[in-house]
Amino acid sequence: MKPGEKDAASLEQLSAGFATLFGGRPDGIWAAPGRVNLMGEHTDYNEGFVLPFALRNSARVAVALRPSGPARLRVASLQGADPAGTGQTALAGEIAEVDLDRLEPADVVPWARYLAGVIWALQQRGHHVPGVDVLLDSDVPSGAGLSSSAAIECAVALALDELLDAGIDREELVLVCQQAENDFVGAPTGILDQSASLLGTAGHALFLDCRSRLSRQVPLDLAAESLVLLVIDTKVVHAHESGGYKDLVAACARGAAGLGVPALRDVGLERLVEAAEVLDAATFARVRHIVTENQRVLDTVAALETGGPRTIGPFLDASHASMRDDFGISCVELDAAVEAAQQAGAFGARMTGGGFGGSAIALVDVAAAEAVGTAVRERFAAEGYRPPDIFAVQPGAGARRRTTQA
Ligand code: ADP
Ligand code: MG
Repeated sequence: MKPGEKDAASLEQLSAGFATLFGGRPDGIWAAPGRVNLMGEHTDYNEGFVLPFALRNSARVAVALRPSGPARLRVASLQGADPAGTGQTALAGEIAEVDLDRLEPADVVPWARYLAGVIWALQQRGHHVPGVDVLLDSDVPSGAGLSSSAAIECAVALALDELLDAGIDREELVLVCQQAENDFVGAPTGILDQSASLLGTAGHALFLDCRSRLSRQVPLDLAAESLVLLVIDTKVVHAHESGGYKDLVAACARGAAGLGVPALRDVGLERLVEAAEVLDAATFARVRHIVTENQRVLDTVAALETGGPRTIGPFLDASHASMRDDFGISCVELDAAVEAAQQAGAFGARMTGGGFGGSAIALVDVAAAEAVGTAVRERFAAEGYRPPDIFAVQPGAGARRRTTQA
């Protein structure tokens, strides 16, 4: 099989599925990747730095506008029932219908809120969205901390921007998608996921300043260095909507207020001694994670630009320890994955994503990937944990229009 051939076949399958479900060919197919965050966890809503990269795994949407029909969204997913194992069903072939004149989250099945939310956010900005049909297909693992949700939002947003001729630039589309996730889905996330998906480029990580929203491409050509990043999906399902995340956001706000700054971004390493005196111990631990994590992003960027990816291992390890000990967002499965990978020869490893489950990442030599994967699986078996999913990822392209001829 030639490179890209399988991909073209899956796009053709999506197009054919669309025709079966909705009748007629879609107006087009748009793809947007999931992301993995190489460094900078929970720094985004503290107006700090993050360093994600776009994956080759993506959500793809076949979309057609129905300008003459009723203003309804009809949407289905090829993934079938329950992509995240959460009891939210998205039966293959089962079409969810939503009235676009009165969009309310309560009227939309949970999995379709990511799509409806983008339409809602466009409406908030004064765009009129007519009837629209969407068939979704995604190979971004759901609920694994790789942002399958942002991939869906960004693919839909890019599609509608083009089909409606709305002329929204990508930086603004990031905010459209963030608004959908924050205010329609109800998950209080920053701009990290959507920025990586819309602004990422192959062979690079995206260094993003979450205050200014300025970003820079940082070379991350793992393949050229015979490296891969292993993603170890622990299968422990997190829920951003749950209290843990909100408590952490609140603790960071408390820390910033206690130190008299607008956001923890404004606290450097040199103020940690003072912070330990003025803050209670629990808040101080949260603050110390954010402050040191911001510095680790800067250090990782510098290391990538000068020494290359083989030199970033110690920052990955330190980040995990900080999330485990200071921020309290790891879990036994993530700790086991990281420890087993480190012991089996990874250059560095850390949990990634919002925490409370999801995935860990480990930077390894291509030649060692198999052995590291085996070591992690054996450790999980010995501990009696569910077998993890382990796969190798490389930086991929950002959101874009696809064709079935690609
Ligand atoms: P993450 O973004 O880390 O993958 P989220 O909880 O933010 O986790 O988003 C996962 C949710 O996105 C799922 O519960 C489901 O509602 C929706 N989702 C993801 N992929 C698909 C898909 N292929 N089809 C239907 N819904 C999906
Ligand atoms: Mg998500």
